[in-house]
Amino acid sequence: MDMKRSGSRHIYRFGQAQAEGDGSMGEELGGKGASLAEMTRLGLPVPAGFTISTRACRFYLEHRTMPPSLEEELESALGWLELEQAQRLGGEKDPLLLSVRSGASISMPGMMDTILNIGINDGNIDGLAAKHQNITFALDSYRRLLQMFGSVVLQIPKHAFDHASEGASLGGEEASLRQRVASFQLLIEHISGKPFPMDPRAQLRQAVVAVFESWNNERARHYRRIHKTPENAGTAVTVQAMVFGNYGVNSGTGVGFTRNPSTGEKAMFAEFLANAQGEDIVAGIRTPMPIAELERTMPRVYKKLRTVTSRLEAHYRDVQDFEFTVQNGELFLLQTRAAKRSPLAKLRSAVEMAEEGLISRTEALLRVTPSDLDEVLSLQLDLSNAELQAIAKGLPASPGSAVGRVALTADRAVELAGKDKQSPIILVRQETNADDIHGMVAAVGFLTAHGGATSHAAVVGRGMGKCCITGAGEIVTDEVAGEVRIGVHILKEGDWLSLDGSTGRVFLGQLKLRPSESFDNPFLTKLLSWARERSVTALWANADTPQDAARASHARAMGIGLCRTEHMFFAKDRLAHIRSMILASTPGAREDALVSLLPQQQADFEELFRAMPGLPVTIRLIDPPLHEFLPTEVAAGEELAQARLQGADAEHIYRLEELLLRVQQLSESNPMMGLRGCRLGIVHPEIIVMQVRAILRAALRVKAEGTAVLPEIMVPLVACVEEVRFLRKLIEATAADLFSQEGRQIAYRVGVMIEVPRAAACADEIASEVDFMSFGTNDLTQLTFGFSRDDAHKYLGTYLELGILKHDPFVTIDRDGVGSLIRMAVRKAREANPEIKIGICGEHGGDQASIAFFEELGVDYVSCSPARLPMAQLSAAHTSIARGPVKTQQEKAPHRMQLVEGAGLSHGLPSQSPSIFRSSSPSAGSTSLA
Ligand code: ADP
Ligand code: MG
Ligand code: MG
Repeated sequence: MDMKRSGSRHIYRFGQAQAEGDGSMGEELGGKGASLAEMTRLGLPVPAGFTISTRACRFYLEHRTMPPSLEEELESALGWLELEQAQRLGGEKDPLLLSVRSGASISMPGMMDTILNIGINDGNIDGLAAKHQNITFALDSYRRLLQMFGSVVLQIPKHAFDHASEGASLGGEEASLRQRVASFQLLIEHISGKPFPMDPRAQLRQAVVAVFESWNNERARHYRRIHKTPENAGTAVTVQAMVFGNYGVNSGTGVGFTRNPSTGEKAMFAEFLANAQGEDIVAGIRTPMPIAELERTMPRVYKKLRTVTSRLEAHYRDVQDFEFTVQNGELFLLQTRAAKRSPLAKLRSAVEMAEEGLISRTEALLRVTPSDLDEVLSLQLDLSNAELQAIAKGLPASPGSAVGRVALTADRAVELAGKDKQSPIILVRQETNADDIHGMVAAVGFLTAHGGATSHAAVVGRGMGKCCITGAGEIVTDEVAGEVRIGVHILKEGDWLSLDGSTGRVFLGQLKLRPSESFDNPFLTKLLSWARERSVTALWANADTPQDAARASHARAMGIGLCRTEHMFFAKDRLAHIRSMILASTPGAREDALVSLLPQQQADFEELFRAMPGLPVTIRLIDPPLHEFLPTEVAAGEELAQARLQGADAEHIYRLEELLLRVQQLSESNPMMGLRGCRLGIVHPEIIVMQVRAILRAALRVKAEGTAVLPEIMVPLVACVEEVRFLRKLIEATAADLFSQEGRQIAYRVGVMIEVPRAAACADEIASEVDFMSFGTNDLTQLTFGFSRDDAHKYLGTYLELGILKHDPFVTIDRDGVGSLIRMAVRKAREANPEIKIGICGEHGGDQASIAFFEELGVDYVSCSPARLPMAQLSAAHTSIARGPVKTQQEKAPHRMQLVEGAGLSHGLPSQSPSIFRSSSPSAGSTSLA
């Protein structure tokens, strides 16, 4: 045969271990045609045939006629196949029978059509039966042809054939089959107005056209719309000699996977149906048997199947699925392709294949997507019941799923959770705030009417690794009545609700949860260790509590990039101290209150340091507006009114009046731009002194235990360099003071958070005053867009719908605006201070697309919530791989600073240049862009 490819040809043959096409020709031959050619070349048992290219299909669909040269090519290919099979199409004694199969370049399983047994007619049915000495086989094949031809080519509804079969069950098997053949022929003639074509070439031609046409059937169009695949690629058609699984007990058909598609386990997973043709399995007409049955009944065939499919996997270097048929004890392969598999199976098979040496670690990393990891790591609702209808839809703010009883306030959540340990709680609120933390700790998931992807509920949800849906507008809560209205449904506290955090859908009732693999999945652990080796950017974690820090360390964070100290203040036992500090009218009284807070903060910091031995721990000084620690004006007013009404004592009333007054004084019309961040420390330096003492005393104590401690003190929300100078001086003076008191010292770093556009613009000035800077991308996005984080959901939806914005900028970093500010700031900062360490903290650190962008900018680290670490580590590795060979994290000096202890006490002194406290390694802080 002529094995040369030619530009104008439409047909490619495969047979007897030779093929004109190969596996790389999916575009022309479709996935199926290309894989049949490839398997043939491998010497695997594949029935001979030829594939008509997608080009012919495109020509047909455009001109509504076959390409002029096709007829001739088809004739010659048919002639070749007849020789190859030593049979003739339409032959009377031993006719050649054909399958006509569809196959696009992108797999569209089951979307288009296939017709089997082309070539049978009234003239050769007896010859066929005689040749095989099996009349039922011949008649069964004929009635299948009539049925498939009728429905695919002539568009006769399938049920019409079922109908026509009904009368045909009387008499013996042969008689009944004869009756069916006759009634199908009648049906075809009756409905299409023409008799079934007895000319096999006419059958073939009509079948090819019908397969071309099936490209545009409803199912296929719908599939392409959903999967966004090109509309005009067309399908190839493979014409192939039939093999018969319906030949008797020594025959059958099956499908399988080279590894388990749901767990990934390395064990062939297949099903087999004896005495059947391929479509019986797919159609689910008969329930197939596990492959062990084949092993029992046909051990030789089973062994061969194992050998052949292992070869397939080794050749394609991927998990394959396959279709096979056994004709009279002889095995034939009919199809193979890369297997669709669950995220879990992707993970396991990628890791095991790399360890088997079948693929490289880089390939293994690329076979698993960051969103696969999200799936693997979160519990999922069992949505297999197709009747399930969501009763509301919000933003999928934190992945995972939750099934629990409704609680409408934080206190109720705690109460209900305490009552019955078996019944998890879903906290349903209009929105959440810091006062709800205890309820959020008690709940398994949160659902809010307001808020976007960086709302309080969303941030806390992701941080805690709990499912959260925000901005579900159809929800109206009534805490007093203990009721919530969700669309048309009214739920009482204690009613069951199910949340799907990956799509934002809310379901009524108690749905089942499918188990997910834990963080301790050994394959995950291995893949992530490869990811860390491969990624240029280091992944750190945000951790507010010792528990968070422990999770971060477990997930191999390279440091803590953000500890929000105020989250420690929100704890119930501390709120009282904080309030008295805020209410204090003199600095002296304020200091007293602070002194009682210090031991608590110190204890928290010690735990953080212990959780991250030898790794940097970045502690942010107090950030939020003070009024967040006080009741609202309304609440304070009500409490006072109540006290007066009940005739409380004068002392108590006085304190409440004081509180109300202070609340009024502190209230701001725009608290997000109010007295917060570094401004707070400049106005109330005693808070900073307390915090710095707590941080450094904790560091000294843990260091004394023999643990390497790397404290980093971070000043939030700076806008200008003078703020930085002022606070740095204060921090260093406090440290010097403490060190001389204690007679001991410890190295520490001072840095800033860049969250205000002005600070980004002045990054060079600021950089020369600090050891590190970290971009707080939440506030930077808020202030650059002028979009309030708390209220933006009111218009963001419209913006996204209208295409004014492509992404929610609080979820995926806005490259053009916020991103270019960061880019500029990074450049300026590195120019002014080449030693500076630059990081990202903020919710964007957990977003795949954003991580890629930060890596391109050459920041040293990205910090995200511990629950997002696996996903982030893999994302960073993917980006590093895509960007080609640059220095990896391992090659660069790791951010474990080699502290020069001898440099001594002077580190913290205001007179000293901050640059003394630096990594001793010359390459630290170098960028991946270098
Ligand atoms: P699909 O895209 O729906 O999988 P296929 O072209 O693979 O369609 O064919 C449908 C069924 O017909 C499969 O089960 C396959 O095993 C069977 N089949 C296709 N070609 C042949 C053949 N030459 N001999 C026997 N069975 C075949
Ligand atoms: Mg198939
Ligand atoms: Mg901030």
